[in-house]
Amino acid sequence: MKLNLFDYTIDQLTEIYMEKFNQKKYRATQTFKWLYQGIENIYEMSDLPLDLRKAMVEEFEIGHLEEKERRESQDGTIKFLFSMPDNTAIETVLMRYNFGDTVCLSSQVGCRMGCDFCASSKLDFNRNLTAGEIVEQVVKVTKITGRRVSNVVFMGIGEPLDNYDNVINAIKILNSEHGLNIGARHISISTCGLIPRILQLADENIPCTLCISLHASNDNIRNKIMPINKAYDINNLLLACKKYLEKTNRRITFEYAMIYGVNDSTRNACELAELLRGMLCHVNLIPINAIEGGKYRRSPNKTVMAFRDALNNRGITATVRRELGTEIDAACGQLRRKYYEGYRLYRHR
Ligand code: SAH
Repeated sequence: MKLNLFDYTIDQLTEIYMEKFNQKKYRATQTFKWLYQGIENIYEMSDLPLDLRKAMVEEFEIGHLEEKERRESQDGTIKFLFSMPDNTAIETVLMRYNFGDTVCLSSQVGCRMGCDFCASSKLDFNRNLTAGEIVEQVVKVTKITGRRVSNVVFMGIGEPLDNYDNVINAIKILNSEHGLNIGARHISISTCGLIPRILQLADENIPCTLCISLHASNDNIRNKIMPINKAYDINNLLLACKKYLEKTNRRITFEYAMIYGVNDSTRNACELAELLRGMLCHVNLIPINAIEGGKYRRSPNKTVMAFRDALNNRGITATVRRELGTEIDAACGQLRRKYYEGYRLYRHR
């Protein structure tokens, strides 16, 4: 299989050019410009020597995601299903906000974290995505819409901190001023709470936004819905968050999926406010998306508002996430599920 040009940071590509092709440094910059302008054929890189292009074609490809399905909702949200050469598939979602186009990226094919309310946990974990496969999701969306992507959130399929090195490289590539030029401040990483990786991220000097999928106000509840809590409990998770804050001074977002009768009482809100007291943070309340065959239901609107008010009254900033793309199954994992089911049916026939 050929090497994927999207896999490389500009520094890595520079090294390849210098060592392998005996080229000057600036070839990497030239290549980056072409790649992220969206060309699909190495021969189109017209300011590279023809011999070099010929040599590169032998070894490199420009991405390999294939669009299998696209669903558009009335609010402008578009959900894509991309397949890869090994016949696995991921989902990518484009959301249009007034501050710019935001792409929700997958970081793995499947997920190993096993959260009970999440569609991704109901399917097998296949593998990590490469940095290039992460980056190419943004390239594809940019090309399809013809509009610049200004924000990226790692909130698609997978646990980004469980694929740490590739996610960090992807961020470096997305950051490059010669490429897509998406600033770290416009990138959010969402995690269920892998403490060692949170601490590592704090040391990277990449000022992205950390989002913590908390979803519970005590360990009892969190243990039931998120197995990761048995390894990294709430207390230790919050200590890691405080260290992250000390190092980066970046406000942390806590995500809280509102599940009817599970974590949505006023008592839970008070408990949560107590946990987060004094922290530079923001709570994002997400009425849960019921998944096919799942046992959880979303909290009624009234309950969500009361929860929000209880937090706000206790000095914790909380907002309710605006829902986009509800009619297109934008909740992650659901399209992939359909794709795999179809694939299985097809193979059995
Ligand atoms: N693994 C990362 C990214 C996952 S998806 C993480 O855990 O943060 C992004 C967010 O969607 C997470 O907060 C996740 O808990 C949440 N989520 C998963 N399934 C959901 C559902 N059915 N309804 C609402 N939010 C969900």
